[in-house]
Amino acid sequence: MLEQPYSYQRRELHEPDWRRFPGWSGVTEQEWASPQWQRAHCVKNIRQLRQVLGDGLGEAFCADLERDQRERATMSMLIPPQMVNTMVPGLAPSSAGFTEALYADPVRRYMIPVFSDRRTDWPSHPEASRDSLHEAEMWAVEGLTHRYPTKVLAEVLPTCPQYCGHCTRMDLVGNPTPVVAKHKFGLARDDRLGAMLDYLQATPGVRDVVVSGGDVANLPWPRLEDFVSKLMEIDSIRDIRLATKALMGLPQYWLSDEVRAGMERLATTARRRDVSIAIHTHVNAAQSLTPAVARAAKAMLDTGIRDVRNQGVLMRGVNDSPAQLLDLSFALLDEARIMPYYFYLCDMIPNSEHWRLTLGEAQQLQHKIMGYLPGFATPRIICDVPYVGKRWVHQVSRYDTVRGISYWTKNYRTGVETNDELALDREYSYYDPIYRLPAEGRDWWRSRAAQEIPAAVGAAH
Ligand code: SF4
Repeated sequence: MLEQPYSYQRRELHEPDWRRFPGWSGVTEQEWASPQWQRAHCVKNIRQLRQVLGDGLGEAFCADLERDQRERATMSMLIPPQMVNTMVPGLAPSSAGFTEALYADPVRRYMIPVFSDRRTDWPSHPEASRDSLHEAEMWAVEGLTHRYPTKVLAEVLPTCPQYCGHCTRMDLVGNPTPVVAKHKFGLARDDRLGAMLDYLQATPGVRDVVVSGGDVANLPWPRLEDFVSKLMEIDSIRDIRLATKALMGLPQYWLSDEVRAGMERLATTARRRDVSIAIHTHVNAAQSLTPAVARAAKAMLDTGIRDVRNQGVLMRGVNDSPAQLLDLSFALLDEARIMPYYFYLCDMIPNSEHWRLTLGEAQQLQHKIMGYLPGFATPRIICDVPYVGKRWVHQVSRYDTVRGISYWTKNYRTGVETNDELALDREYSYYDPIYRLPAEGRDWWRSRAAQEIPAAVGAAH
């Protein structure tokens, strides 16, 4: 009998031993379980990374990282110990081959990007931009993106407990880097959140609020509970989704007594009012899913909220094979009761070309993961098309594979097109990474760059 392309095998979760790192060799279970200890011991720079990993970390790696931070990084470094511990989980830094394993590690590849990871030919696509989804253009009030008719995104704060190298909100989130100054909110936080609530109260067509940032785990719990409670007082709001990668990066926070008790209060009110509260998290690699993460997800479900769902990002070298996506999805579903929901193509932010997949590759991946998971838990692979919104990768209307330009249409007006009669007839474009194109396509982009032809290429934006 021939083998199946993917063979399912249930794998027990495993918390790697943090004591293999010289800097944490004396850290107790109790310290590790403390969210305060985790936050206080985040790795924020190369010196701290060296202190934790010790002499086993190669000098060449540090120089590679230093150059990236100086010349390419769009996000500053911030990695909770919980996440560091999932990198190269089976090897101590003193073991032979540790630095090579660190270079190859999927979590390292997006949390600690180094210069040699990036493309030197086209580090950025010519159409890449900060705020590549144009969220700020669609702010109804500061921080509240009204892109879809019935849904809004509330960016309640610009920080997270962890900073991911590929962050789509690199425009706003995190500390400035040598290459990116960050946008600053103009309004004070409470005024901003108040303005959001006023807008939603006055806009009954909106029924669904994604409470995001940043990461809601960085908003003091009483402030978050107050905001979500007030959302539930608005009659038209039926769905509330709390976005937190920290469920994986800092599960200790979601396991704390304060947060569990607070979420239980919110879930009780939500049930009474027939509102659904869900947590949306962001796990990209199966090795990130440890017993602590599973406990945090289950603790949240036990409070009575509707669901915990995962929205990962597809990245080359991180999760670009069907086996990696299926291993991750099965681990989420079977071991943590987290619903595999979406995988996004990495957005077109500066210096992200080495991570990005072509639309054709994403379509292949979608095809290859079909039929193994239950239908309700088979993640959809999504292209977030600028000025359009989320589209399943097979919904493309035209695709020029030579130049790597896909064309998309939409069926609603975003916040910037309320009076645009042609918005629904127009095509909007998305771009594959140039280095993956055939020679003819690469030549076309080179000559276009040389001539500085305007960006139109048959598309409106
Ligand atoms: S957790 Fe989300 S918002 Fe925060 S840096 Fe990562 S991708 Fe960006």
